[in-house]
Amino acid sequence: MKWMEQELETLAAESLERSLREGVPLQGSPGCIRQGEQAKLNLSSNDYLGLAGHPAIAETIRRELLREGTGSGASRLVTGNASAYTRLEEELASWQQSESALVFANGYMANTGVIRALAGRSDVVFSDQLNHASIVDGIVLSRAEHARYRHNDMSHLRSLLYKYRDRPRKLIVTDAVFSMDGDCAPLRELAELKQEYGAMLMVDEAHSGGIYGTQGEGLCHKLGIKDCVDIHMGTFSKSFGVYGAYICGSRTLIRWLVNHARPLIYSTALPPALVAGISTALHLVQAEHERRERLWDSVKLFRSLLDSAGFSIGSGDSPIVPLLVGDNAKALRFSNALATQGIAAVAIRPPTVPAGTARIRFSLSASHTVKELAEAAGVIRRTGLETGVLRA
Ligand SMILES: *Cc1c(COP(=O)(O)O)cnc(C)c1O
Repeated sequence: MKWMEQELETLAAESLERSLREGVPLQGSPGCIRQGEQAKLNLSSNDYLGLAGHPAIAETIRRELLREGTGSGASRLVTGNASAYTRLEEELASWQQSESALVFANGYMANTGVIRALAGRSDVVFSDQLNHASIVDGIVLSRAEHARYRHNDMSHLRSLLYKYRDRPRKLIVTDAVFSMDGDCAPLRELAELKQEYGAMLMVDEAHSGGIYGTQGEGLCHKLGIKDCVDIHMGTFSKSFGVYGAYICGSRTLIRWLVNHARPLIYSTALPPALVAGISTALHLVQAEHERRERLWDSVKLFRSLLDSAGFSIGSGDSPIVPLLVGDNAKALRFSNALATQGIAAVAIRPPTVPAGTARIRFSLSASHTVKELAEAAGVIRRTGLETGVLRA
């Protein structure tokens, strides 16, 4: 195992080693976290609507845990398919106005399982260069041709669709909001291209579900193209504040996945109590519009504060705000300096992002107050000057 130590030393020397740090939610301050002895404003969580600490969800889970026990005991196809699943899947289909829905244990398993179920050796998957790692892993597992197109570059995608036009099955897959850049996919153009070339379209709404649309249905609904999306994927681990994922689509798609999606077939079902908790979270996502309003107010405020301070934060319109640093060590220093001043904001480095584009990734939540964000922006500006990321 000597090789391992040597390679880890190299990683550390390049400021690329990652390590686990304990973080505990702070009682009574939902937008904050305790790391070690220090309380910090949590600007790195994906709990966009602030639902992770919602007492109604916790109460449902507690009640159902006592009634149904802790474990589901088996795969959904064996005896793990509790009645909470049936209810949640009906509610999801109705929320998304789709024929049918299927719950997976998490987003990683949904993406890997679904892509592998839809494409094989002779097929081709067209995938944005900045798609989430779980999509990339699904393509690798599928053994299909991986046609990566430049980020949001529709003319590049069109040329690849033309090149592979004779393949039996074609799948275009994209994040709706890109997790490290916070920008949106050109979903209308993607919908047109998929129709023109007879491809299937899969959209991952992990960072847009709960946030866009009048009831948090996601970006596809907001843009009015949901009927062009064949495979609509989202998670319960971000805006929903719980855990798990869903696929919405036609009855035929869901029937196919029940027979072919290996993470569904060969892995134990989520505990029934958790599935019931997701139903409560879905109800809150649909009904509590003020959470979305507060989140969008925060997004506008925080983006304008960082932008007017002179930082490069991209052109996205989402709760993900990347502050571009470039150099790995500098990004790490920036993040550490913020941490000592009570702000948790991680440095994102390669291979998560391309080399030379290390960044601080801020993510906002409905739990943050205007005062917290304004103060944080002041600290970030000062730290930017001290670390040389901002020039005076
Ligand atoms: C987080 C994320 C996933 C994975 O979801 P989990 O439920 O955390 O496994 C998939 N796709 C995207 C775009 C994500 O950001």
